[in-house]
Amino acid sequence: MREFSVICRNCHTQTAYTQPLNACPHCGEHWLDAIYPLTETNLVNPADWRASLSQYGTNLWRYRQRLPLRDDANIVSLGEGWTPLLRAHNLGLMLGHDNIYIKDERQGPTGSFKDRQATIAISALKEAGITEAVVASTGNVAIAFSAYAARAGIKMWVFVTSSVPPDKMREVALYGSEVIKVAGTYDDCKKVAADFAASKNLFLDLGIKGIAAKEAMKTLAYEIAEQLGNIAAGVDASLPSGDRYPWQAPDWYLQAVSGGLGPVGVMKGFAELASAGIVDKVPKLACFQSSGCAPMANSFHKGLQVAENVDNPITEITTLATGVPGVAYEVLRELIERYGGTIEAIDDADAFQALQVVAQMDGLSIEPATAVTFAGLFKLIREGVIKPHETVVVNCSGHTFPVEKHIIGEHFTRDIILEEATGHSAARQEGLLTALEDIDPRVQRIAIVEDNPDAARLIRRILQAQGDYLIEEANNGLDGLALIKQKRPNLVILDLMMPGLDGFAIVEAMKKERHLQDVPIIVITAKELSPIERERLDGKIKALLQKGSFMDSDLLSDIRQALPE
Ligand SMILES: *Cc1c(COP(=O)(O)O)cnc(C)c1O
Ligand SMILES: [Zn+2]
Repeated sequence: MREFSVICRNCHTQTAYTQPLNACPHCGEHWLDAIYPLTETNLVNPADWRASLSQYGTNLWRYRQRLPLRDDANIVSLGEGWTPLLRAHNLGLMLGHDNIYIKDERQGPTGSFKDRQATIAISALKEAGITEAVVASTGNVAIAFSAYAARAGIKMWVFVTSSVPPDKMREVALYGSEVIKVAGTYDDCKKVAADFAASKNLFLDLGIKGIAAKEAMKTLAYEIAEQLGNIAAGVDASLPSGDRYPWQAPDWYLQAVSGGLGPVGVMKGFAELASAGIVDKVPKLACFQSSGCAPMANSFHKGLQVAENVDNPITEITTLATGVPGVAYEVLRELIERYGGTIEAIDDADAFQALQVVAQMDGLSIEPATAVTFAGLFKLIREGVIKPHETVVVNCSGHTFPVEKHIIGEHFTRDIILEEATGHSAARQEGLLTALEDIDPRVQRIAIVEDNPDAARLIRRILQAQGDYLIEEANNGLDGLALIKQKRPNLVILDLMMPGLDGFAIVEAMKKERHLQDVPIIVITAKELSPIERERLDGKIKALLQKGSFMDSDLLSDIRQALPE
């Protein structure tokens, strides 16, 4: 039996934990935190604790000595946690930033980082012998709690707002939960759930105020530190290393917030590691909200101590529609004052654009709430708030099953209509070939002349994802000029600094040849141009883009402008 206590945020009274509490027994405050005893040897000494991790597998419960459950027999697990920490290769190239890591929480059992919260909350209910409970959710908590509750044989009453996508609600019902749809805001929904729980005398999950949520999110910090330690040591990030390599904290942790329990827990985790000397710092914190429901971002920028509520959230991003942040805002604000960081509002349109960029650049299908984080990342890098040498970890908080219709509309397929079967298989085959040719109507030919393979790959990737272009590549100036002469492309994308024949010489050579004079040129360069160099290009090129500081959309709009209709 593992012993630990609960401490009250208001009066600091410590109470030995025997079962889930929903308020401080001394003063009635709801916000409680777990604290662990210093008597067990492996908790006193951080090195011993890290060494002890090697006996555990790769899921969240590897950190069980610092998790709020008394008996391991009560663990309800679906293999959550220890999600991959992926380097953002193409996004990093596009943004000119080498150290962006994606904590891929989409890979949790129900597709979001709420699985962490669910495994701990439901295990605690099981341990307390609770068989029926109530939770309010903007969607993902409902799904995660329902899955784990099903496994534990606990009945869930799930309260969601009517704006939660129907497919999400259907999944909740699939697990056997009662789904109650509340027409109103999420904050109304929480009140209805609390009234219902009180009237039926059922256990109500406290969300951010309870210990399960914060202790769960803390494991994200542990994992990130352990995985970044591996990366710094040059070994596979996915291998649990325990105490083999020094753990590391990133410079930044980024997350989209609704109630804010993710960052509150994650920062608690890093603070614990830092105070034990396991990492050397606590990261700066950047939180993002949808601008149609951004009580924390707005209050932060107004310098308010206490948040101003948003009574009528107007956002398509229902996962983030908490208009009444309460004390979570004050906690986050204190954390940012102490460790650095910001809270920013992001427009839905920018989030949906980021959603597509992340899918097309790095192969991650993310939910709109998560896209808010990526749009925020782009913003902070562009504004220079996040510096190029800083290590950034982005919480890739959820998957987009099913992709909502306003993101990818109706006309995304290329349709093949086969001729009526004639009974003649040769004719039928011919019809198929014609049909297949028709689906690839690439008319515009673009030549990329670029000696840096990473840059060439990025440009090709942007063109492939968004346009019907035939792409030709050359990786040095001489081959490039030969390619341009031979193929006469509709557009040339050109690097300037190349060995042998450089980009300036190619521009000049093209201008001398009558049949190449009018071919538009877009220059993408890593070089700061001198006034003389600018003059050499003046009037001869359509656009000049700086490597690492343009977005895919900038390049595509330059291309559309440069290409003849
Ligand atoms: C819950 C959720 C968030 C917001 O998290 P909080 O820390 O609770 O504010 C962001 N993204 C996804 C996918 C979520 O499910
Ligand atoms: Zn108290």
